[in-house]
Amino acid sequence: MTFVITQNCCTDASCVPVCPADCIRPAPDTAGTAAPMLYIDPASCVDCGACVAVCPVGAIYHEDDLPESQLRFKTINADYFAGTPLDIRATPARWSPTPVGRDALRVAVVGAGPAACYAVADLTRSPGVRVDVFDRLPTPYGLVRFGVAPDHQHTKDITSVFDTALSGPSVQCYFNVGVGTDVTHEQLTASYDAVIYATGATRSRELGIPGERLPGSVAAADFVNWYNGHPDHAEATFPLDSERAVIIGNGNVALDVARILVLDEATLRATDIAEHALNELRRSAVREVVILARRGAGAGAFSVGELMALGSLPDVDIVVEGALGERPDDHEGALKFDIVGEYATRPTVAGRRRRIVLRFGARPLQVSGTERVEALVIEDGDETSTIETSMVLRAIGYRSAPVPGLPSDPDTGVVSNHAGRVTSDGAPVPGLYVTGWIKRGPRGVIGTNRLCARETVESLLADAAAGRLPTPTAQPEAIRARLGEQGVSVVDWSGWRLIDDAERAQGSVVDRPRVKVVDRAALLTAAGVAG
Ligand code: NAP
Repeated sequence: MTFVITQNCCTDASCVPVCPADCIRPAPDTAGTAAPMLYIDPASCVDCGACVAVCPVGAIYHEDDLPESQLRFKTINADYFAGTPLDIRATPARWSPTPVGRDALRVAVVGAGPAACYAVADLTRSPGVRVDVFDRLPTPYGLVRFGVAPDHQHTKDITSVFDTALSGPSVQCYFNVGVGTDVTHEQLTASYDAVIYATGATRSRELGIPGERLPGSVAAADFVNWYNGHPDHAEATFPLDSERAVIIGNGNVALDVARILVLDEATLRATDIAEHALNELRRSAVREVVILARRGAGAGAFSVGELMALGSLPDVDIVVEGALGERPDDHEGALKFDIVGEYATRPTVAGRRRRIVLRFGARPLQVSGTERVEALVIEDGDETSTIETSMVLRAIGYRSAPVPGLPSDPDTGVVSNHAGRVTSDGAPVPGLYVTGWIKRGPRGVIGTNRLCARETVESLLADAAAGRLPTPTAQPEAIRARLGEQGVSVVDWSGWRLIDDAERAQGSVVDRPRVKVVDRAALLTAAGVAG
């Protein structure tokens, strides 16, 4: 008997150290750190269920209890070890923080998304460390609230891990406080022993093709923020009035957006999708979503689990077009290629409500139209062709917004760093750190941030222990006082809990997990801090 890791795996690897048989791979302390998912070796699993108890997103099942849609993961887990037999390793030591050798260390963390939360969790395992968390929004969790697709409610369960970190006695939350607007970078560096930036990658990359700025040509990230109820995107509108939408890029964001465009109202209503988006999507004319990939099926940027999940969307046909390319040799690539191949041979069903077209080997050349998007011109092998549509969504990745005071790459926004220590001309800038997408670029799933944050925290604690941190010239308490004088409505942890309670209560009335409060002023009212 064995346990099986399935689609929802967040890779934060909480399961690895608790496994008495050490049979979950790739282990996070190996080259597999950025693996898209983890696998259990069925030959070594001792059937104890320890992994199930600690999995924060409910991704692990006993083989006898696998839901129908996840059955294939039994083979996928086993196959991983057919190519990579379980390496017997010395049991890795459990992580314990470097003792900082002083009574009090004050750290500011900027951002309250997954990378920030994992950093807070590790920092507060070190006695004497006190952490203040700043986020410009009135709510925590960053991409878990505004990025994770609403139909992935289990993934959002990771917030229970983050709640433990953020609600701890040595943590103060300063939500609705913008660094760079309400408080400056210089005030933070003067007031804290160290500052960690975990501000992610909030900007969308651009294609640089003609017509990209026509109305109807939009960043998928903006659409994601809109349907997830981000306060800055609530007023956005999208042309859902034509039968076809085209998504450029085939990463997991593209698949998220495609699902949201084709899911029926009842399925969407059972999620925490924003009310305004639910209303618009109910009226949507979109019947076909084309996901355009410039490379072949085995090179898809989507993960295996997300690709497989497309195949069980209710009342949706999956159609495959274009050049699939070569079957890769690696485990992940070969699986993707095979799954796409299965979709290609699946008969379409007459009368299905909607369809997703996976189109490979096609490069976007131009978004065309006069007043608004009318078509996308693509290059398909040696041919040029046109896809009629009124909405082109580019899901080609993110880049980080520059942070004043931090040296960053002008193209990607990634801050130059070594193991999380911000560097300038190759030398560490004392007391300044980064973690998450601003540190390593927009790659990986939520759990990838766990080890990323641990590396940064280790660097910080080692610097503290070695006396390499600058001495603050001001007290953090002065920041709260100044914010009060400026009239900034600070939402602390208890304020967020009030918002959370209000959203859940509203949700229970209409049989939904929550009804998100979207308007910023309404969020502050719900938090009890309206001016
Ligand atoms: P991504 O995984 O980097 O995918 C970007 C896609 O855009 C790729 O297909 C890429 O093609 C394509 N692309 C880039 N430049 C292009 C161009 N000029 N023309 C045409 N296509 C272009 O980015 P993402 O989807 O935004 O995801 C970001 C990260 O978040 C990923 O690590 C992803 O796994 C993660 N995420 C995970 C989930 C989940 O686990 N469910 C959900 C959402 C996001 P090439 O491959 O050919 O470069």
